[in-house]
Amino acid sequence: MSSLEQHNLSRDDIIHVLKGMNIDLVPNTKVNAARLKTRLGEALDAAQRFSTTFPDDPDAVGGINLSNYPLWKKRTPVVDAFTRRTWAAIFQDNREYEDQRQLAFPRLIQLIPDIGKDMDQKRIGYVVLKDMTVFRALIIRFFSTFEIDEKTPLVLCNYAVVEEEDEETLEDSIADLTPEDQRGRAYPMTDVEQNLFVTLLSLNRKHLSPRFRLPAVVRDDRCDVGFILPIGSLNMKDVIRLSKIGDCPLCGEETHHTCKACLSARYCGRDCQREDWRNHRSLCRTISTGKWYNITLEPNPFSALMSRMYKTSITRYYDDSDENQSPGAEVLDEAPPNYHGDAYYLVKLQVPLGADANQVLVYDQFKTFELHLSEAKNPEAFIAALFAVAREQKMYRWVHREGEWEWKICFDRIPERLPTW
Ligand SMILES: [Zn+2]
Ligand SMILES: [Zn+2]
Repeated sequence: MSSLEQHNLSRDDIIHVLKGMNIDLVPNTKVNAARLKTRLGEALDAAQRFSTTFPDDPDAVGGINLSNYPLWKKRTPVVDAFTRRTWAAIFQDNREYEDQRQLAFPRLIQLIPDIGKDMDQKRIGYVVLKDMTVFRALIIRFFSTFEIDEKTPLVLCNYAVVEEEDEETLEDSIADLTPEDQRGRAYPMTDVEQNLFVTLLSLNRKHLSPRFRLPAVVRDDRCDVGFILPIGSLNMKDVIRLSKIGDCPLCGEETHHTCKACLSARYCGRDCQREDWRNHRSLCRTISTGKWYNITLEPNPFSALMSRMYKTSITRYYDDSDENQSPGAEVLDEAPPNYHGDAYYLVKLQVPLGADANQVLVYDQFKTFELHLSEAKNPEAFIAALFAVAREQKMYRWVHREGEWEWKICFDRIPERLPTW
């Protein structure tokens, strides 16, 4: 058995894991490993809805003291409580993964409800996650389930990573730690997937109050302690918040240097500016040489059906679990929140199927808004948009938010790298 410190995700692993959580960093990011680890921790907290589950920030009040919570009353099976489907997950299902490591998070959020299913059937259980290509296993042993609230079980556990030379020795080591009568299912999981689970458990452990006395049964010199909570895809608000690391787009450090061509991108210095040029070039030229139109977007005004669809899409960036946050009918009068801040970003433009050709649908990657560009409000920009839509199958353009319903957009510069959404 080796020390858990050796089972940290590498910097490159973290970049891919984050990508699997929809957090897309620039391709050649120079953000240091420490910042990336912090970001992964924030992303895992968000995936477990920490801020809504524990409205008093556990770290600010000295950590979660489990002695203050009752045991899970089993009004809901753990498997159901652990299953948190969100609109974001539906986007996730349709994603293409260019690296196996990007599946680590989607697999983790499938695995946890599966474990819940096992737990509903047994009071105490083990789960073994095996990677037979490197003869490595993560063994997790589950103890008490606490009731944080009616919908949220917290399962206290301990765990160990076992790494051996061959299959037989690995099976022997697993048997040492898991009495046969309590052994749960064994799942195949790659070492990166195991490491992500270890990271989750060890970061969760840090949220526990030192005043909480661990039950004797949980203490085992061979194992570390952690807990699991329901987990699901990040909501869009978190995805956008967590996709930006610091100020300099490449390394995250403070910025002192502005791109002279567009006066928009800021960097820590010339080195990062030079290295980011491949990413920035297309936007830079669009800002500095393109023709920009000021436009006013609006909710689709013309049918009840479409306004329902608008409301459905807007809920995608809220938690489905949080009913209070679901917008009501009045949302059509409210401008969508600005999750992009002062950044330039891409939107997709489409002529809606079966609609009159006097509107163009405009939305961003995560559909934080889905609005229309109408001929009536934007006569000049509308012609430019139709002209472009007629030539391109899928039309993406750079925009910048200027006000509640106002954006600016450039039609005559096509982004160099077209997204796939
Ligand atoms: Zn930098
Ligand atoms: Zn520039």
